[in-house]
Amino acid sequence: MTFDVMTLFPAQIENNLKESITGRALTKGVIKLNAVNIRDFCDNDYGKVDDTIYGGGTGLLIKCEPVYQCWKSLFDSEENRPYTIYVSPKGSVLNQKKVIELSKKKEICIICGHYEGIDSRVIDEICDEEISIGDYVLTGGELAACVIIDSVSRMIDGVLPNEDAFTNESHMDGTLEAPQYTMPSSWHQSEVPSVLLSGNDAKINEHRKIASLVETWQKRPDMLDNLEISEDEWQKAIAMRKNL
Ligand code: SAM
Repeated sequence: MTFDVMTLFPAQIENNLKESITGRALTKGVIKLNAVNIRDFCDNDYGKVDDTIYGGGTGLLIKCEPVYQCWKSLFDSEENRPYTIYVSPKGSVLNQKKVIELSKKKEICIICGHYEGIDSRVIDEICDEEISIGDYVLTGGELAACVIIDSVSRMIDGVLPNEDAFTNESHMDGTLEAPQYTMPSSWHQSEVPSVLLSGNDAKINEHRKIASLVETWQKRPDMLDNLEISEDEWQKAIAMRKNL
């Protein structure tokens, strides 16, 4: 999978992703990163890519043409056109379903705005969709691009050690992951549930399933609406919650 990122601050993208798991995936070549500076495509000698906003208003807007030329430089024919995303607070909010969908693409181009954003005309012409990472406003799209690349990369073969590393995570099946513990089994008068020390896989799996339901119920009750929960599971979840 190749990620192209169109930005005024390529180093912000590269420095973030070169660390840890994404860094190793880049070194192994499982994912590729191509951070391009939109400024390299401006039509003047002084690197100006933005201008004042028609109709008035504070701040500057990145112009159409440098964005368009930068995007055109990424591919040589229509069939090689990358799936193109504008990260924007106006987009649909990223979730795990979208992350999985994006992980099936061959090449994704993420366009980062800055200042007041980008002239709407070029976004309308070249983007397949707008994605937000939450209902708040960032100074620029670079962190949002890194969030998309990080979350999508985890779904790509060879980035994590095996499929289990992501299939049992929160949001993969519409629930939150059950609480997890490591050594020691007793800490500050708080004990790890004894079933997790039993070595009985069937019982551990059953416990985790119900604990995951309880965790979702406590922390994200809105997610329960989309789940099919049997009467038996409900009763077990109620009993477990009472004992917390
Ligand atoms: N004027 C824009 C508005 O009100 O919708 C906000 C521009 S913001 C200051 C600058 C850039 O940061 C945006 O063009 C976008 O690329 C990025 N950005 C800001 N908030 C974001 C969010 N929640 N998700 C994704 N990108 C965001």
